[in-house]
Parts: sequence; structure tokens; C-alpha cells
Amino acid sequence: MHILLVGAGLSGAVIGRQLAEAGHQITIVEARGHVAGNCHTERDDETGVMVHVYGPHIFHTDDAEVWDYVNRYETFKPYKNRVKTTSQGQVFSLPINLHTINQYFGKTMRPEEARTFIAEEQADTTIEDPQTFEEQALRFVGRDLYEAFFKGYTIKQWGVHPSELPASILKRLPVRFNYDDNYFFHRFQGMPENGYTAMVERILDHPSITVHLNVRFTRDKAGDYDHVFYAGPLDGWFDYELGRLGYRTLDFERFTHDGDYQGCAVMNYGEEAVPYTRITEHKHFSPWESHEGSVCYREFSRACEPDDIPYYPIRQVKEKALLADYVKLAEKARGVTFVGRLGTYRYLDMDVTIREALDTAAVFLDKGAETPAFVKPPL
Ligand SMILES: Cc1cc2nc3c(=O)[nH]c(=O)nc-3n(C[C@H](O)[C@H](O)[C@H](O)COP(=O)(O)OP(=O)(O)OC[C@H]3O[C@@H](n4cnc5c(N)ncnc54)[C@H](O)[C@@H]3O)c2cc1C
Repeated sequence: MHILLVGAGLSGAVIGRQLAEAGHQITIVEARGHVAGNCHTERDDETGVMVHVYGPHIFHTDDAEVWDYVNRYETFKPYKNRVKTTSQGQVFSLPINLHTINQYFGKTMRPEEARTFIAEEQADTTIEDPQTFEEQALRFVGRDLYEAFFKGYTIKQWGVHPSELPASILKRLPVRFNYDDNYFFHRFQGMPENGYTAMVERILDHPSITVHLNVRFTRDKAGDYDHVFYAGPLDGWFDYELGRLGYRTLDFERFTHDGDYQGCAVMNYGEEAVPYTRITEHKHFSPWESHEGSVCYREFSRACEPDDIPYYPIRQVKEKALLADYVKLAEKARGVTFVGRLGTYRYLDMDVTIREALDTAAVFLDKGAETPAFVKPPL
């Protein structure tokens, strides 16, 4: 079959490769001037540092098949994500761990002492059934840690007060009573030696795959193909006829520095008074390289307007209701499968994106043109 993939991010690349290997002819159209979607990396002209152009991306997974998959196309160097945060005039370790707690309260507690201290002297036990993010945080960690590490950051990141967000966002106790500051628990973690774009280029390097960059798909082209996999925005497929699904977008402010600016890749800023959420110093993502200069980006979050890049789906009550209406429309469509973070309006880590792309390709190889609109339901 002749198959069209809209979007040359991880979703499009992985589905395209799987289907090309099974003998199908693949055409990919990509609106941007590069492949790899939001994982795109490129070298900074001035400093030579490899930059994660759409924000920092750390690969982490528990899925051994996905880990094998990415290692087939790129060498992954060991990398542990250790994030710091600046708040109330000090630098702390994240996620909140024993070091953070001892430093914040000026104590030298051992794990069980800290657990008791948080439970008995900090947590607000008058809140019996937390309904909001704020109540949940107060119930778990108390006002001091909530205000230093959650409140300002959340307001900046999501543009709403934590008292307007559901408690479900903070599902588990967001505190570790040991000194483990590795951000992710997954078994496999790493950074692609030559960047994510080099990896995606290799995934796409197959004689049956043709990629057209700087080409924006419009729905009238769908009829030229036996099937379409669409990794663009779900509401965009329908020309936003029911309204726009809400996203947060990001603005990045670049600056350079001689030497080492902040000593780590990601420094969060927990206070509302600092307008940016974090500063990323990209050379720390490639500790095996050496660069005299450094390039950093301040990251600002705001509501996404029609001409902005959609980054984080908001998925609150209003957006989910609109999503349900779009899902109903999409389920009636024929010859198209909606995939990836934009096509299914979900936040997806890279490993989940690859897992879903592999599963979607397998469904297509089994069902062909009968493949449903969603292999992974968005709701
Ligand atoms: C700030 C940020 C940080 C992240 N950090 C991490 C991390 O640390 N670790 C992790 O595992 N994941 C991270 N992610 C998630 C990661 O970016 C996604 O998993 C991944 O990008 C999803 O790939 P995709 O192909 O589904 O979507 P995308 O990468 O968005 O690709 C979709 C592509 O479709 C193209 N497109 C859209 N509409 C059209 C159209 N009409 N015509 C042609 N082309 C079109 C777009 O230009 C885009 O290139 C992060 C995401 C963000 C936003």
C-alpha cells in the first residue's frame, strides 16, 4: 500500500520504518524544516553545543524492547537526570529528598526521623479528603515545602493557581526519604551521543521512505493514499470546527556564557516572582564533550495561541469535554489513524511514543485499511 504519514517526529518515523520494512511505500510530510519533531537537536553555531531545540529531552524507559529499538539507531551514553531548584535564596536538590528536607529545615534527620517530622509537624492533617492540587500538597508535605517547591512553579507552568487544579495531579507522596536525586526510576536512561535528530534520520533511512520537509498537510491530500497516519493536532484535522483544544506553549530566551553558567543541565526556579520556570544549560546533557562556551535557555510558559507551537495539552474538564466531541468525529472518519502526542492530545514521553508507534504499526499490519481511528484511545 501507499501510506502517508503526517509528521516526521518519533511517531511518524517509527510507524513509517515498521511499515516500510513490511513492504509498504511510505511518504512523510513534515511542516517543519527538520525531522524528529519536538525531540529535534542541533548544534549551536556559536558554541558547538548540541541543543535540544524544543526543550530538554532525557530518554528513560523500563521497556526493554524500546530501549533495544533506540540503541539500534543511535549510541546512548549513560545519563542521569539530576535537577536543582532555586527558591527562597538557596539552591536545593529535586525531587524533594532527604537532602532537600534537611537543608530546608536546617536539620540532620535520618530517614525515619524525617518521615515522622513531615507527617507529624508539617503535613496538614486537618485536610481529610483533598480535592485540589493545593490541598493534596498541604496534606502530604505541609505549607513550607508546598510554597517553596510547588506553588510558584505550578502557577508559572500551568497559568492557574494550584487551588484550581485537581488533586489527582499529585497522586503519590512527592518526597523521597533518602538521598536519591535521580529524577527517574526507570531501569534504562541515556542521552543519544549524536542527538535525537541523528537517531530519527537513521530510522527514516530506508529505500521505501520518502520525506518531504516544509510541507504542511491539508486534508484534501488524504485521498491520494491507501491510509494516513496523522501525528498533527487532532482538532487541526477537522479545521478546528468545534473549537481549539487548549495547550500551553513555551518561549525560550537564549543567552551565552563563557565556561560553566550554572553547573547543571536544568535549574528550576520555584518562585512566582521569577518569570521563567527553568534555565537549561545544554552542554551538561553531553558531559563526554568539551566546549569552552556555553549556551543556555530561559524557559517561559504561557497559553498557546493559534500561531504558537502546542507543547503541553491542558486536559482539564473543559478540554476533555471538547476532546470527547473530537473523538466522536474522528471515529467516523475512514482511512486515517490519529497517533502521537498531538493526534491523541496526551502528554507522552518518548519511550511511550515509540511503544505506541510499534503497537500501532503491528495493528496496521494485521488489520490493514480497517485499522481504527485510534489504536490508543485519547480519553
Ligand atoms: C518541553 C518538553 C520536554 C519534554 N521532555 C521529555 C523528556 O525529557 N523525556 C521524554 O521521554 N519525553 C519528553 N517530551 C516528550 C516528547 O517530546 C514526545 O514524546 C515526542 O515529541 C512525541 O513525538 P510525536 O511524533 O508524537 O510528536 P511531535 O514530536 O510533536 O511530532 C509531530 C510532528 O508533526 C508535525 N506536524 C504537525 N501538523 C502537521 C501538518 N499539518 N503537516 C505536516 N506536519 C505536521 C510537527 O511539525 C511535528 O514535527 C517532552 C516534551 C516537551 C514538550
